[in-house]
Amino acid sequence: MAKHIFVTGGVVSSLGKGLTTASIAMLLERRGVSIRIQKLDPYLNVDPGTMSPYQHGEVYVLDDGAETDLDLGHYERFTDAPVNRDSNYTTGKIYLSVIEKERRGDYRGKTVQVIPHVTDEIKGCIRRLAVPGVDVVLTEIGGTVGDIEGMPYYEAIRQFALDAGRHNCLFVHLTLVPYLKAAGELKTKPTQHSVQELRKIGIQPDVLVCRTEREIPEGDCEKIAQFCNVERRAVIEEKDKEVSVYEVPLGFADRKVEELIADKLGLALPKPLQIDDWRRLVDRLKNPAHEVTVGFVGKYVKHRDAYKSVYEALDHAGVHHHARVRVVRIDSEKLAVEGAEKLLAGVDGLLVPGGFDRRGVEGKIDAVRFARETGLPFFGICLGLQCATIEFARNVAGLAGANSTEFDMETPHPVVCLLEEQQAVTDLGGTQRLGASPCHLLPGTKARQAYGVDVVSERHRHRYEVNNHYRERLAARGLVVSGTSPDGNLVEAVELPGHPWFVAVQCHPEFRSKPTQPHPLFRDFVGASLRCRRERKDEARGRGERVTV
Ligand code: GLN
Repeated sequence: MAKHIFVTGGVVSSLGKGLTTASIAMLLERRGVSIRIQKLDPYLNVDPGTMSPYQHGEVYVLDDGAETDLDLGHYERFTDAPVNRDSNYTTGKIYLSVIEKERRGDYRGKTVQVIPHVTDEIKGCIRRLAVPGVDVVLTEIGGTVGDIEGMPYYEAIRQFALDAGRHNCLFVHLTLVPYLKAAGELKTKPTQHSVQELRKIGIQPDVLVCRTEREIPEGDCEKIAQFCNVERRAVIEEKDKEVSVYEVPLGFADRKVEELIADKLGLALPKPLQIDDWRRLVDRLKNPAHEVTVGFVGKYVKHRDAYKSVYEALDHAGVHHHARVRVVRIDSEKLAVEGAEKLLAGVDGLLVPGGFDRRGVEGKIDAVRFARETGLPFFGICLGLQCATIEFARNVAGLAGANSTEFDMETPHPVVCLLEEQQAVTDLGGTQRLGASPCHLLPGTKARQAYGVDVVSERHRHRYEVNNHYRERLAARGLVVSGTSPDGNLVEAVELPGHPWFVAVQCHPEFRSKPTQPHPLFRDFVGASLRCRRERKDEARGRGERVTV
């Protein structure tokens, strides 16, 4: 029978519950424990797919096409545990299921209520991950204890522990121990209150993870333990990390958190801990030998979480090359006004990520033009591929006014358009081309060279496609389709052979990059950008200019 770990949060949001959950999962997995991870989100959207990146950050897509919370990205980057639709539930998804059952008559005349029907549904979602062979299921509860919308979840996990046996369940609570400058000390009261809130619901946390910007003195740890009714050894300090989130599991490993958890759950840890690769990763992140600057032209550049996995994938590629990747985030609307020449001066590569609707698109297209004309390495992702196609059509193939029908329904040259199957779609939620699909790569191309194999599988999230009607005309002017769907019908990758590195893909490769296994396209893009930087420096030296490293 599987054991269960529930991770809750208190005091404030954004404490990094996802990272804490992923880090604990990683240590258990590396000790030979078979794990599954899930996130339960208390909002009413059925999934985050319809939310603005400002509201929610990135929508993280899984192989099965589920549009999920960005914490699932942490789970996949930190562990090898399989994730699928059952790894992320929202209140919307849970209520939808309850209401569908009610309409079918499954409740046989009963009054359908939050307790027991919604809580039973939640317990079912948790149980669904505990398949044979799984030792531990980690369930992260989104939001903060005390939120009205979170109540059914806390009630459900309290009941779950009763059903499964308290000794089979572990409650980990993440809190903040703030430093008050005026008082010159750390404050434990918010943690005490937050635990009181949990205990009111009937949940006694077993482990407290305390986020702090300063070391918590022993006296304060003892105080927290006593007031919160938690063993002293189970009060874990989690100090803010200097450089990278990838340091979090190392901090836990130093404190032997996985041994504490195993001890409390009566769980065997079959293997010794092996995390040298992770230590090397953090060491490289902290001590890069080189630096490279990537211009990142998007619409939500002020919001770091909007393109989370892309930034992470750039870091992974940087680690591979011993380089720090400095991302210069450029607002595409600003670029449309001020011009690519000005805003991209000095960057070593250009990345245009995914996006929706026409705002800012002309800036992205202008950025691609600049990269194509000046030999600046370019990597286009999803909308980035569509922008590259539009730019090439307009400025190389002479198709004036070429556009995507997403941005201009009346364009004379719809080089990007809706597939027939998408034309009848009216609902926005969950109806895009979603999830993993195979892509065949053309021999001799940069994409094929990067991947090193003929067929790859990548995740998708888009509605529009390159219009096959224009493929020949674009190819005649030099745009190479380097990847297609197996039947050849969908354009999956394009590139320009004469250019140092100009590759764009319709998929989202960022969802497959891992810290110690960078995605091949990100790896080669950063590699090309580093070469570009070196060549520029050599040229500047050749002109007798003083060049710093
Ligand atoms: N808006 C484009 C489409 O729907 C691109 C989507 C994306 O970049 N994820 O096809």
